[in-house]
Amino acid sequence: MQQLGGIVVKLDRGFPLVRCDDGSLVRCEHAASLEKNAQVRAVIGDSVRVNLPDGHDKGVIEDIDERRTCFVRRDPAERTAHQVLAANFDLVVVAEPLVGLNYGRLERELVLAHQTGARVAVVLTKADLASDEEEALAVRDKVQGLAGRDVEVRVISVDDEASIEAVRALIGDGEVAVLIGKSGVGKSSLVNVLVGSMVQDVGTVREFDGKGRHTTVDRTMVTLPGNRFIVDMPGVRGLGMWEADEGLGAAFADVDELAGRCRFRDCRHLDEPGCAVREAVEAGELAQERLDSYRELAAEIESVRARREEARQMRGEKASDRKKRFGKRR
Ligand code: GDP
Ligand code: ZN
Repeated sequence: MQQLGGIVVKLDRGFPLVRCDDGSLVRCEHAASLEKNAQVRAVIGDSVRVNLPDGHDKGVIEDIDERRTCFVRRDPAERTAHQVLAANFDLVVVAEPLVGLNYGRLERELVLAHQTGARVAVVLTKADLASDEEEALAVRDKVQGLAGRDVEVRVISVDDEASIEAVRALIGDGEVAVLIGKSGVGKSSLVNVLVGSMVQDVGTVREFDGKGRHTTVDRTMVTLPGNRFIVDMPGVRGLGMWEADEGLGAAFADVDELAGRCRFRDCRHLDEPGCAVREAVEAGELAQERLDSYRELAAEIESVRARREEARQMRGEKASDRKKRFGKRR
């Protein structure tokens, strides 16, 4: 029996596909010891140890390394459960359409993106649909103002090579990017032009499993020219909040900074005296909608926390047990 390290590059009907250190692609199942704990399932980007038993058609994932970064959302089917969608990436790219951009959704996406601990960028897609250059620049400036200086914002269109090159340049040598955004925003088109003439990993996979199945709900880590990788996350419909206090603080750095100046540390910015946040709104320095979004997301995070706490107490579990199941964060 041989043991190898590898990276999960695809999830396929519960069987992770692992690219092993020796370059081979191996379809895997989870070891019984991992199966016992329903929380422990390899996701795309996971760094794993794989056993290759002789005469066995599948590898066995024996161990999953601690996650450097992970993308987590609330399980759309279960209110007190979470889902990890990807792990160990360096950059989250949030895609929103330049025309018809939904700012509320963008803010939500930015909170979850920041919460991962990875760098965050925004691409505004289908710029060719804007009526003119001025419109495109106005949207970009508004998004830049909302996202903050630490977030790179790129305006792209698949026919504009320079704009695609600017996206490629966001991903460093050996880095993995994760692409999120609603269906139809242009994610797979972007991945395709980023890949250029390269044969995608899915081509290799097809050969491997011999079935040629490639549905859009599968998440695949695609290799880009120059040792860069990107994971398109199609089928990510709901983006419900989970544990996201740091993400909220980072995505709403403007509000966070003001909140630090409120008289009371636990100020809810409602009717407390000495509230710097409300003062800023009254002075026209902070948009009311911005504060409303912040409150809404903060309330969602709080209600998820409350429900989880309730569920935990019903199970008689201590709050400290929870940390062990979670990936490490910065
Ligand atoms: P996904 O669901 O996010 O992967 O979106 P797709 O990549 O499938 O794109 C959805 C639709 O938008 C397709 O019809 C694409 O041809 C179109 N599309 C993608 N990028 C662009 C673009 O830059 N400009 C225009 N005009 N259409 C685009
Ligand atoms: Zn306040």
